[in-house]
Amino acid sequence: MNKVLNSSFYFLLLLSLVWISCDSPPHQERGKVLLLCDDYHINNWYQYKDSFIKYDIPVSFFVSHFHQMDAPAIAKLHQLEKSGHEIAYHTLNHIQEGDGVEIELGSYLRTEIDSGFQLMRRAGFNPHVFAFPGDHSKEAWRDSLRSRFPIVRAGSFGYFEYWERRRSFSLQADKPDSFWCYDIGLNSRFTEDDNMLMMLEDVSEGKNIALLFHSFDDSSTPYTTPAETFFALIREFKRDGAEFMTVSGFYNSRKDMLHYADKLRLPKNE
Ligand SMILES: [Zn+2]
Repeated sequence: MNKVLNSSFYFLLLLSLVWISCDSPPHQERGKVLLLCDDYHINNWYQYKDSFIKYDIPVSFFVSHFHQMDAPAIAKLHQLEKSGHEIAYHTLNHIQEGDGVEIELGSYLRTEIDSGFQLMRRAGFNPHVFAFPGDHSKEAWRDSLRSRFPIVRAGSFGYFEYWERRRSFSLQADKPDSFWCYDIGLNSRFTEDDNMLMMLEDVSEGKNIALLFHSFDDSSTPYTTPAETFFALIREFKRDGAEFMTVSGFYNSRKDMLHYADKLRLPKNE
């Protein structure tokens, strides 16, 4: 008798499991998470190389001030690239227009774009992505940049703006010119006001997001990000099944969104 009851119990259990799995909503594909890191804090970035490996997260490092880097710093950049990170370009001197400073396109292209880009190529890097310093991006300069880089990052959303615009936000915010990529700044206060939860929710709903930081530091200065809260966010994304990609990796997986720049067809070190 017990045997009959037991087998009926297992049969009903099996039936209910089948029923539950049939009734589940279709699997929602998670959005991609792109990690972007700007400027020249190579020693700081390098300190966290094992954590990046531990969590299996590729970072796109946007480098400025390449002409001021010594050989050990350049070697560290190569090490980061070898371990799966992307080395991207972020101008030579990080000059921004505004506050009385006006920049003429010709000299900007010569110094800030081409000379630094060539220096990086001579050192063995081949950046495919460019990011304007700060929010300094000019529509009128778009064609000049298009001929040089397949992907240009323009515009950051602070977390308050993200909160306002999150429903319309994506990496290709200004379609059809999808070669502009937008990012959300992760500064020292990014965990306030449930911003982490909003980002997790958006990615679990299939939205792609790019997160920008500059260096890890527990102080509350504007352009620093506390490592502990950053990696706590990474763990949450991982737990939720989000996939991490470099900026180039993301756009290369979506050829329709990728613009092909002329310059990259030139031989290396040209
Ligand atoms: Zn910058």
